[in-house]
Amino acid sequence: MNKIQIENKLSQYGHRPTAARLEVVEALLNFHGHMTADDLYEHMQSTGSSVGRMTVFRTLDLLAEIGVVRPTYQGSGAAHFVLLEDGHHHHLVCMRCAQTVEFAECSFAEDLSQQLAEKHGFKIEGHLLEIYGVCKKCQAG
Ligand SMILES: [Zn+2]
Ligand SMILES: [Zn+2]
Ligand SMILES: [Zn+2]
Repeated sequence: MNKIQIENKLSQYGHRPTAARLEVVEALLNFHGHMTADDLYEHMQSTGSSVGRMTVFRTLDLLAEIGVVRPTYQGSGAAHFVLLEDGHHHHLVCMRCAQTVEFAECSFAEDLSQQLAEKHGFKIEGHLLEIYGVCKKCQAG
C-alpha cells in the first residue's frame, strides 16, 4: 500500500485526508516494522513534524478502523500497530522471549478467507495472522 492508495481509502470511507493525517501516513510508511503510537509520534518529532500526539493517536485508530494497520499486543502495555501492506501480515511469535518472525506463506490463510467469505457472506479485506509458540533458542535454553 502506498500513500496514494491509503489516501484514497480514507476518502472512500468518508474520512478527510487532511495534511496532518497524511503526514502520519507518510511517517508510518517510512518507519517500517512495528511501532506503538508513541514510537511513531517520537519519530515524527525527530523529523521536525509539528503534528500533535493526539492527532497521531487518533489517525492510527482511524487507519486501524479502515484496515490499513492493525493493533497487536507484544508483551508490553501499549498496542503495536502493524502496517498491513497488501492487506495482510503474518507473524510467528515466541511466547517466552517475544521474538517475532515475519513469514510470507499465505496459501492456507487465503483458502480459509475464501471459505469464510462464502460461508458467512463476508467481503474479506485482509488478515493479521499470529502463530504462537516457543522459538528454537528458548527451546534449547
Ligand atoms: Zn524465544
Ligand atoms: Zn510484522
Ligand atoms: Zn496473508
